[in-house]
Amino acid sequence: MKPPMLMTPGPTEVSEDVLTAMSRSVINPDLDPVFFEFYRGVTRKIARLVGTEHEAVVLGGEGILGLEAACASLIEPGDRVLCFANGVFGYGFADFVKLYGGQVVFCYGDERHPFDPDEVLTLLQRDPGFKIATLVHCETPTGLLNPVPLLAPLLRKHGILTVVDAVSSIGGIPIAADAWGVDILLGGSQKCLSAPPGLAFLSISPEAWAAIHRRKQPVAGYYCNLSHWADWYERKWFPYTLPVNDLFGLDAALDRVLADADVYERHRRVGQAVRRAITAGGLELFPKSGWSDTVTAFLPPSGLKESEIRREILERHRILLAGSLGTLTDPVIRIGHMGENCWVDRVSRALEALDAALRHFGFQPAAPLVDTFTAALD
Ligand SMILES: *Cc1c(COP(=O)(O)O)cnc(C)c1O
Repeated sequence: MKPPMLMTPGPTEVSEDVLTAMSRSVINPDLDPVFFEFYRGVTRKIARLVGTEHEAVVLGGEGILGLEAACASLIEPGDRVLCFANGVFGYGFADFVKLYGGQVVFCYGDERHPFDPDEVLTLLQRDPGFKIATLVHCETPTGLLNPVPLLAPLLRKHGILTVVDAVSSIGGIPIAADAWGVDILLGGSQKCLSAPPGLAFLSISPEAWAAIHRRKQPVAGYYCNLSHWADWYERKWFPYTLPVNDLFGLDAALDRVLADADVYERHRRVGQAVRRAITAGGLELFPKSGWSDTVTAFLPPSGLKESEIRREILERHRILLAGSLGTLTDPVIRIGHMGENCWVDRVSRALEALDAALRHFGFQPAAPLVDTFTAALD
């Protein structure tokens, strides 16, 4: 049986050209001069995508490795770290901060609203004594987008290094790491870029490199130590053997996104049309404001279980949607309309299946989901 159509917020659909690129012959990434130039090309494409003139690196491991590597490399025992928490990944950052000896101070937010820059400014005026701040751009478990373009400049003005998890926004929402003043901005292969899971990448500002080089204590650990990547090109040396074929795939995926002049506009159009379809159908979006155009989370109709709705959609329609993740108090259903998932025909099929599943369980959408979606596209 064919695997189900992925409409999850990662992994997303992988296109044929990416799969083909991955099936190229293996080359030796530690010895073949061609590979160093190829890898450099990949990092330049990432830098372009996230809007930085500075260095980017790609690590062999999923997005989480990027979060951990940033924390491991920047944090020294006792450093005060401000962790912005209004979702699962925001809270999760704090675990890595603690793991590497950082002293966590939470900036608590509301799971259903993005952070308010004015409140953050007030907090920083009261207490600016942080070395680092961790922020999540798109909280994938709730579909909430935090105003990083407004928060990162505030933090920089107060001399605080920023680490931004943009795993589920890079490639779906415009990013400008340098203009926003982000020091480390990190992503993964399997979300909006629509390569298979397996790679993390980070852009690193000169200020972040300086902080890494200035450390008094060596980084605890090897695999997460970004200082190994400071001069890989000059030395023609990598800290470990890189997964070449995953990188072939990521390179092809980056080419697709960078050549797609409509990519952000498509995410915007599809994102707002999905939200219109959900609300016009009589369902409630989980975020009250600050919706991400890459993923939509909504509450199941009262009395219905999200797990049963999703099972029906999987079994009868062979489409995989996502449920809740982690500590969310309300169970939600999530549609990942990011990357290669973000095509009108795919999203229409997912909404059609959702509509049918809701009716199957006795809930009549106030307006057919696909009709609203189609009408709201332009
Ligand atoms: C997917 C994701 C990650 C990384 O999780 P992995 O399981 O390592 O892919 C990190 N942060 C956010 C916001 C994500 O959506």
